[in-house]
Amino acid sequence: MHYLEVANLTKSFNETPVFSNISFDISQGEFITLLGPSGCGKSTLLRSLAGLITPDQGQIRVSGEDITWLKPQQRGIGMVFQSYALFPNLTVAGNIAFGLKMQRLDANDIKRRVAEAVELVGLEGREGYYPASLSGGQRQRVALARALVVRPRILLLDEPLSALDAPIRKHLREQIRAIQQQLNLTTVFVTHDQEEALTMSDRVFVMNKGQIVQADTAEAVYTRP
Ligand code: ADP
Ligand code: ADP
Repeated sequence: MHYLEVANLTKSFNETPVFSNISFDISQGEFITLLGPSGCGKSTLLRSLAGLITPDQGQIRVSGEDITWLKPQQRGIGMVFQSYALFPNLTVAGNIAFGLKMQRLDANDIKRRVAEAVELVGLEGREGYYPASLSGGQRQRVALARALVVRPRILLLDEPLSALDAPIRKHLREQIRAIQQQLNLTTVFVTHDQEEALTMSDRVFVMNKGQIVQADTAEAVYTRP
């Protein structure tokens, strides 16, 4: 218990509160789905965990370490966005290697770790392709590999499947869950899709109007509305 701890987190934009005093604990290796209607604050909460947004108050701890004020790249957190956010002028390998180059890793280590990440998401043979020549599902797998290649402690997924067609969505859903379990990766997955929440999660956090109104197993959330 208490691997990722959020205590009394508060954030407003222009004095309009998005959420106030949000608190929760996530265990190591847990897959949490953050489910709620558009505009309820899911993405702002996720970006606060990633360090892309500074909260007004509260703490975020990982394994007891306060990370609230750390830079994004110091947090050991990987993030995937709905819109992929790939660099169009870099190849698949170049996109995946980007974070490792920033860390100034040795060229051989980069090569080995890029190859590992490519294999993990099943993109062997596509290393030299540019994002524009890939399908949506393939682009999102590049984004996933780019997040995983730095060996994060926590994976944050912001509606990663929403831009994809239904059959690809289902396939990628299963692939993400399998990789998460293989790596025992503590994961927070944001969605407004109930089926995704039901099929993927260890627990579902239901968010509404800036509050987590329910936190329980998917079965409990759906049988006790
Ligand atoms: P969700 O991810 O659940 O759709 P968001 O976290 O994106 O919700 O947004 C929550 C609220 O915060 C919305 O009312 C949104 O308009 C507002 N908001 C989000 N980002 C900003 C921002 N950078 N500046 C001002 N308001 C914002
Ligand atoms: P460059 O080699 O010019 O930096 P690339 O986009 O070809 O640009 O590759 C980026 C990084 O990804 C390189 O540092 C390389 O180590 C790694 N890489 C390239 N191709 C492969 C591959 N087929 N398998 C594993 N790693 C690769």
